[in-house]
Amino acid sequence: MRQKIDYGIDLGTTNSAIARMDSGEPVIIKSDETQMDTTPSCVAYNKKKSVYMGGKAKNIIQNEAVTALKNRKTTPPNGYQEFKRTMGTDHQYRSTNMEHAYSSEDLSAEILQKLKSYSSDEAINAAVITVPAMFKQSQLDATQRAAELAGLGYCELLQEPIAASIAYGIKTAQASGYWLVFDFGGGTFDAALMHVEEGIMKVVDTEGDNHLGGKDLDNALIDQLIIPQLQQQCALDDFLDNQEYVALLQAAVKRHAEEAKIALSSKSDWNELLEDLGNDDDGEEIQAEVSISLAQYEAACEPIFQQAIDIVKNVLARKGLSGRDLQSVILVGGPTFSQTLRRMLKEQIGGNIDSSIDPMTAVAKGAALFAATRDIPLVLQKRDSTKAQLSLKYSDTTVEPYVNLGIRIDRNQSSASLPQTFALEIIRGDSAWSSGKVMIEDDAELLELLLNEGKANQFTLKLSAPDGTPIPCEPSSITIINGLKIASATLPYAIGLELYYTDSASEGVLPIKGLEKNTSLPAKGTARLKTMKNIRPGNRQDRIVIPIFEVSSGFEKEVSRAILNNFHSKVIITGDDFPSLLPEGSEVELTLHIDASRRTLVSVYIPAFDESFDFTIESRIEPEIDSEELHKQLREASQSARTLASEGIADAEAQLTILEKAQQQLEHRGQERDTKEQIQQQVKTAFLTLDKFNKQDAWPQAQAGLEEALEELLELQQQTGSREESEQIARHQQDARTIINGQDVNSAKKLTKAIEDTAFQLKMKDIRFWVGFIYYLDEDFDRISWLDKATARQGVQQLKQLLEMNPDIDRLRPAVQAVLQLMQNSSYADLGNKINTNLLRT
Ligand code: ADP
Ligand code: MG
Repeated sequence: MRQKIDYGIDLGTTNSAIARMDSGEPVIIKSDETQMDTTPSCVAYNKKKSVYMGGKAKNIIQNEAVTALKNRKTTPPNGYQEFKRTMGTDHQYRSTNMEHAYSSEDLSAEILQKLKSYSSDEAINAAVITVPAMFKQSQLDATQRAAELAGLGYCELLQEPIAASIAYGIKTAQASGYWLVFDFGGGTFDAALMHVEEGIMKVVDTEGDNHLGGKDLDNALIDQLIIPQLQQQCALDDFLDNQEYVALLQAAVKRHAEEAKIALSSKSDWNELLEDLGNDDDGEEIQAEVSISLAQYEAACEPIFQQAIDIVKNVLARKGLSGRDLQSVILVGGPTFSQTLRRMLKEQIGGNIDSSIDPMTAVAKGAALFAATRDIPLVLQKRDSTKAQLSLKYSDTTVEPYVNLGIRIDRNQSSASLPQTFALEIIRGDSAWSSGKVMIEDDAELLELLLNEGKANQFTLKLSAPDGTPIPCEPSSITIINGLKIASATLPYAIGLELYYTDSASEGVLPIKGLEKNTSLPAKGTARLKTMKNIRPGNRQDRIVIPIFEVSSGFEKEVSRAILNNFHSKVIITGDDFPSLLPEGSEVELTLHIDASRRTLVSVYIPAFDESFDFTIESRIEPEIDSEELHKQLREASQSARTLASEGIADAEAQLTILEKAQQQLEHRGQERDTKEQIQQQVKTAFLTLDKFNKQDAWPQAQAGLEEALEELLELQQQTGSREESEQIARHQQDARTIINGQDVNSAKKLTKAIEDTAFQLKMKDIRFWVGFIYYLDEDFDRISWLDKATARQGVQQLKQLLEMNPDIDRLRPAVQAVLQLMQNSSYADLGNKINTNLLRT
């Protein structure tokens, strides 16, 4: 029975692999049928409901795509690939052969099970699974669920670039300096900057793009070269007017694009006769000689590679480094075979570009090495108590030539009758070193083991009675890695809370102290907050909701709008949890504990009660992006970029180019969920960049904002004729004059917010506001994300009925508020940009 996890799995977008530690070496377990190192991450179900994985499934997918094209029918397919790209979302892969639809985690579990089956001599119930460094919380949680579905009782997650650098580091013992892991896979790109000093490895910084990979190269070749050539040689103009048909054709020629791409990694041209693709507009069979030269390939693919290189430049720049400072650039992932990419890296980054490790298996091997240092939790270790049970203490990775091993014999855990004293011999795997027979009295001993340098060392433990009779023991072997002190995982995103910050009078997300980007894991961060309302004991409606976010890169030091960050999860505390009243303004201490696999535990301490509450939190399943909303955001971002670009700001021009490309992409492939996510990310990045420039004219903007808010308030006061707020408004006017004289941005913002609050109080007294709200909820119903759509629809209907009864404001207001509770936070946050939601829901 293994005490260490020992198995590493690279669950890739395109290809997956499994490795395990055998006699101190990470060894790939080859696929059962084809004896390949890697298995395509493809799953297919046939009419007889059999499931296929790997290469066979890939063939089924390709054939199915061609059949669909010939029939011009988009029946749901029965084969799936690249489902890792929708990990953590609610996307369902429908199937005609099977009764139900599949989520990404279902399909990933099939792959995991397949990989597990390659190990014919041993059942696997614990593994280290690798994930892209920039995976979001929802994607990590989905990966854990997939592992569980696949029957892995225990699973740890490891960032892919760290895995690759472990595999690399063990080969390149004692190298010092900076390493850059350049991991360009099928669907994700990760860059990790590592620092190694005398074998001690540290992750300095990571950055990446969850929507950048070989798939984008395929798409570029299909859309820019293959389909246009088909269109030139066949009658396809009408056909290509139909977006659904275009999608069918894109899928059917994908395998040719991949072939072309792989050929052009090392050759200077590619051509092939494409046929068997159904008929064109004239009823003739589609047949065309398609050729792609290296120059054409480069024109299409360089911009995609450039995105990855720009990410690297960015990482280097923010650490004050240049390519020359890199000891090695480690290439990982299939597309890094490309001569074009390698040339671009050489030209733009320089440094020693190292392709000495196999870019397809390094991640799985590194994961196995890491797994050799991780314990299977005791409850899951099926210990055989008939053997003598040993407790061992040692460090599993070291840069020293010796390691101390503490041994204790656990009589309590062993059912076998054991002698009073023992003899123990420890033998290194290569038999070149042994401890000799050591007598153990008092059941404990400390030994020094001699290691082979720059290697994973395996030792066998042989226990015997003083008369020489062997005594079976557990564990009977251990692995210690020398030459490399493995890096801890780090946080790829800072973790922040969405709060109202009284200092800056703004609402938004700010990282928690202790959970900044690149913090080594496990880590802990604490934030102290003050409640903004009374929480009555036993009252479920009295809630404090604290949304947690993964902070977007670039916003680590300032409060940023919630929608620009990734939603992580939320903590909800209700009056139900409390023994007595928690008055407004009470202190609450929130602590997040994040482990090496980025599992998060939250504890909330309330000083007033001197009591803590623990929560395990789960991320949400990401809903599909609304196309209309995305178009709107894209327009807004483009508009803002255009304005700034016309002022000659180069970064804005660059963003504008990206956004224009995104616009085209949305037209080409707008029906693909993945494309939408990719574009949303680009829009976010654009907003992040542009927000910075907008901040540069902070004062004029702050002044304008303040004046505008004041004007609106005065107008409202006139309209409503309300007198209650007169004094307050006069004070606001007075304060505004003082602040404008002093040109103080922060105070201006604070006051603007206060004025808006007053205006909002006024508005809320007006029944027309609530009536207007009902119309909004009704008209935008489908565009709003609801927690429970059916109940929400019922609620809105009831509101409309209520309207007909001419209610007074005291009846209408709570009724509308009740429906607002049913909104998902994302939609509620959108609302927040228009109206002050702080005051609304409660
Ligand atoms: P992942 O880790 O995301 O599964 P891989 O590292 O297995 O990805 O890379 C898969 C991608 O690499 C695919 O897009 C595939 O087409 C591409 N690929 C594989 N071999 C080559 C090659 N020789 N040249 C260029 N691209 C390649
Ligand atoms: Mg990979």
